[in-house]
Amino acid sequence: MVLGSLSRLSQPPRQVWRRGSQGFGNQRRAAKAVAAVFHEVGKPFELQEVPLPEKLNEGELLVRMEVATICGSDLHTVSGKRQEPMPLVLGHEGVGVIERIGSDIFSGSRPRHRGWKLQEGDRVTFSVADSCGVCPECTLHKLPQKCVSLMKYGHARMSEGTGLNGTYATHVLLRPGTHAVKVPDTLSSRVCSPANCALATVVNALDMARLPRYGSNKSAVVQGVGLLGIYAVAWLKKRVGMDSVFCLDTQPERLKTAVQFGGIPLLVSGGEEEFWERQRSIRERYPHGVDVAVEMTGAKGVIHEGVQLLRNGGHYSFAGMVHPDSQLSALTGETIIKKCLTIRGVHNYTPWNLEEAVKFLNEYREELPLESVLSPSSYALSQINDAFAEAFSGSYCRVVVNCQDI
Ligand SMILES: [Zn+2]
Ligand SMILES: [Zn+2]
Repeated sequence: MVLGSLSRLSQPPRQVWRRGSQGFGNQRRAAKAVAAVFHEVGKPFELQEVPLPEKLNEGELLVRMEVATICGSDLHTVSGKRQEPMPLVLGHEGVGVIERIGSDIFSGSRPRHRGWKLQEGDRVTFSVADSCGVCPECTLHKLPQKCVSLMKYGHARMSEGTGLNGTYATHVLLRPGTHAVKVPDTLSSRVCSPANCALATVVNALDMARLPRYGSNKSAVVQGVGLLGIYAVAWLKKRVGMDSVFCLDTQPERLKTAVQFGGIPLLVSGGEEEFWERQRSIRERYPHGVDVAVEMTGAKGVIHEGVQLLRNGGHYSFAGMVHPDSQLSALTGETIIKKCLTIRGVHNYTPWNLEEAVKFLNEYREELPLESVLSPSSYALSQINDAFAEAFSGSYCRVVVNCQDI
């Protein structure tokens, strides 16, 4: 049943966030979920009732969503830059509470079974990818996010399964191959919400085991400081222990945030002279170049600069150019060979990256200004169109949605 179309752009967000699961713990179980359904580009979201399954299948988890955050890929879908099967429930970042558990979920060899025992009432986040756990990608290649029968939350049509496949809803149904990670009591759902897309991808891009093992590992360049870039700065400073993380971006506001996380800002406004000036300022401190470069801009033009700035034996992580307009014409094989570079493409992440991400947030929740990347107020699910308008304005890295406020 369609509950109504929403376009109250003028209403201020309501102050509705409640810490942890306490706010919803005593709620009576509903027979129906409410989901914000996206039908087509140019139309507002519609709240729609979706029946909850009477009985869960083995390995399934019914999660009552607490908060969701609006990721850039959802903005691309809503604006028509990205194609998704419609209608669907968008949203893949979020935290919720396990309301029901399917039977026998700890038998078998699916990724989730390595973890601790999950219980009803546990607050969790979960991997955006649901994987089979048995194909070569899942097992041999350690790339469950490339599973041959992959399903991704927030990217699946309403007609698939229960339809509750996205986080802009009161409930999401997690499938048996989805890795759920318990959120520590000390970590708020708001701060944890972007962990299962933005931060886990950063953890993968800057996997400690893959960064340079020889020579120094003290300096990096982060190209593009949207939320992934901001988290990359935090990870490189805190987890890797780097001395200097140079941040390159075209937007002064983003650079200000990067500074709060420990980055050294370098504004990019274009031009050859400025390019060489940046090279000079970094090489004053690191004459042989930096150890690590991370591409998180999505712009193919930045590759030349990243390669120039890397030292011999440096590591270049590509994470932003997830679109076809990414021909690397400025890069020569000769440069890669002569500088002995490692270039690694990163798409999404693995269950263990997500566990690391949650651990990292909890460990540094008091040292890092993690709330500063979020909208100060949470929007009600019934204000999802307003929340998207806010997200499109770019005022915050992430706009927060309270999924139980309908
Ligand atoms: Zn698989
Ligand atoms: Zn995302």
